[in-house]
Amino acid sequence: MSDMRDLYQEVILDHSRKPRNFGVLNGDSIEAVGHNPLCGDRLSVYLHVEDGVVSGIAFDGVGCAISTASASMMTEAVKGKTVEEAEKLFEAFHEMLTGDPSSEGDGSALGKLSVFAGVREYPVRVKCATLAWHTLKSALDGDGEKASTE
Ligand code: ZN
Repeated sequence: MSDMRDLYQEVILDHSRKPRNFGVLNGDSIEAVGHNPLCGDRLSVYLHVEDGVVSGIAFDGVGCAISTASASMMTEAVKGKTVEEAEKLFEAFHEMLTGDPSSEGDGSALGKLSVFAGVREYPVRVKCATLAWHTLKSALDGDGEKASTE
């Protein structure tokens, strides 16, 4: 498993240093705010949804390396996906980190996101890794507030 661990560290470091889709979206977007009081991570996710497809997504905020890397990879993973596909990814990611360890499932649907399986070993970090996804989910469910960045 040491290869997996190296990959995990490499990917997380890369995304936390150079987060993708970091910033806000122009125009009207759906916004949701997520907060992880255990660690102090706080982030906002911005979405454009057109015809049931996540046509644009961005995030900003302040958090630890894991929450930032997870948010960065989450935006890459769901961009261009349908809302339904994005919700399935949320469930698969959540299951990987919090589900029964004996049912590893197949991480194939998660692709690169499966590097976060290593976070399971650090229970206090699980909330860091899932924060962006919970925030995405509340944006998709419409629990977020309508935000205008203009
Ligand atoms: Zn954190």
